Amino acid sequence: MARKMLKDGEVAVADGGGGESYEYDLFVIGAGSGGVRGSRTSAGFGAKVAICELPFHPISSEWQGGHGGTCVIRGCVPKKILVYGAAFRGEFEDAKNFGWEINGDINYNWKKLLENKTQEIVRLNGVYKRILGNSGVTMIEGAGSVVDAHTVEVTQPDGSKQRHTAKHILIATGSRAHLVDIPGKELAITSDEALSLEELPKRAVILGGGYIAVEFASIWKGLGAEVDLFYRKELPLRGFDDEMRTVVASNLEGRGIRLHPATNLTELSKTADGIKVVTDKGDELMADVVLFATGRTPNTNKLNLEAVGVEVDQIGAIKVDEFSHTSVPSIWAVGDVTNRINLTPVALMEATCFAKTVFGGQPVKPDYRDVPCAVFSIPPLSVVGLSEQEALEEAKNDILVYTSSFNPMKNSISKYVSYLSRDHLLILQFHLSPCVLVKGYRILWCFH
Ligand SMILES: Cc1cc2nc3c(=O)[nH]c(=O)nc-3n(C[C@H](O)[C@H](O)[C@H](O)COP(=O)(O)OP(=O)(O)OC[C@H]3O[C@@H](n4cnc5c(N)ncnc54)[C@H](O)[C@@H]3O)c2cc1C
Repeated sequence: MARKMLKDGEVAVADGGGGESYEYDLFVIGAGSGGVRGSRTSAGFGAKVAICELPFHPISSEWQGGHGGTCVIRGCVPKKILVYGAAFRGEFEDAKNFGWEINGDINYNWKKLLENKTQEIVRLNGVYKRILGNSGVTMIEGAGSVVDAHTVEVTQPDGSKQRHTAKHILIATGSRAHLVDIPGKELAITSDEALSLEELPKRAVILGGGYIAVEFASIWKGLGAEVDLFYRKELPLRGFDDEMRTVVASNLEGRGIRLHPATNLTELSKTADGIKVVTDKGDELMADVVLFATGRTPNTNKLNLEAVGVEVDQIGAIKVDEFSHTSVPSIWAVGDVTNRINLTPVALMEATCFAKTVFGGQPVKPDYRDVPCAVFSIPPLSVVGLSEQEALEEAKNDILVYTSSFNPMKNSISKYVSYLSRDHLLILQFHLSPCVLVKGYRILWCFH
């Protein structure tokens, strides 16, 4: 493919056409969803690209990560594998009502699932390396940081440092889960460890009302644990449609997960019987595992951004314009490190737009409208478009809402899920004058 670099002036760049020469056209820090897509697509446009990534480990740290990033190694992929594993419980129960005679105990082997999950993420880590290699991208192992507008320093696992120059630098270092600052917080784990636990907990406490908390509650309950879910609001899944949040909450409860709305944890301590958990309502309970799913912090603190003039916000997310351009003209950032919509397909979209803008000669902004999103609770929730509240605001209350709850046919004879038999379809249309627009909005609640 012919090399097609953006002409100066279309999007401002640092070198100003002054003829400086660099080792690479693009140096990418972080080989997760955004970094891999950004480097491959740029290489496809003919750019000479290098990427650095930390050594592989299922649990991330400042010195450990791996090609593929959060989604592949400790996010979407391993989580979905555990969700599949957990969903079998209901299927086994239901099977009896469809005539299957299951004699004797059905035993469950957590270690087997964990082993298979690890094999799969190791395989995918290799796939990502191969994809990069086949695209002609140079891979460098180590922690990258920015030295100046065109120089990246990579600290390799043996401590040695190399410097590389590039016309453009793309930061795609993602984010990492953080622990809420309460006494005993070191006893809690994050989603990284939760996906790699040696033993399946019998009693699990989860703090957080977001999708990761809801998903782990479903996984652990499905695999047989007692689960207590604590969150600050009245309903889980803040930001989703209120009506659907209510449906999710009642389905979680229907599965036997104990919900504790508007409740926080104040202290954890170790006892002979496990971890003692104290709440802000003065309640105490015991747990084998306490998961904090209370948010993630952008990975920027080791990148030397301040010294180079790359602006970050109060939580450390890199500030970018609509083209993912930072405050330094030669430096760009995509994905979770910019804290826009923190989902894999969004990181991919931002990275594709970056590559098209900088190396494809076709400046294009990411489009954040109608990003579809799924919550892999059991049963799952999927969402696209506006929430009812957003639609009300946008159409100045001129909307029609249609909802329907119905019993899926499968549940008519299944005992296990019959009490959760609410399939839910919410269709909303609204009109904007002077021209009449009809916008579709649909939330579909479904069983597998
Ligand atoms: C438990 C969980 C479940 C999730 N489930 C979903 C889901 O179902 N669907 C969905 O769309 N999204 C999901 N996500 C979110 C998704 O994983 C992220 O939005 C996505 O991975 C962001 O991609 P990214 O490229 O910005 O960052 P990442 O994928 O995190 O990649 C960043 C990479 O940079 C590396 N890195 C960091 N610092 C340095 C450095 N100094 N030098 C070199 N390399 C560095 C890291 O090791 C990492 O590999 C989930 C996240 C979690 C935690």
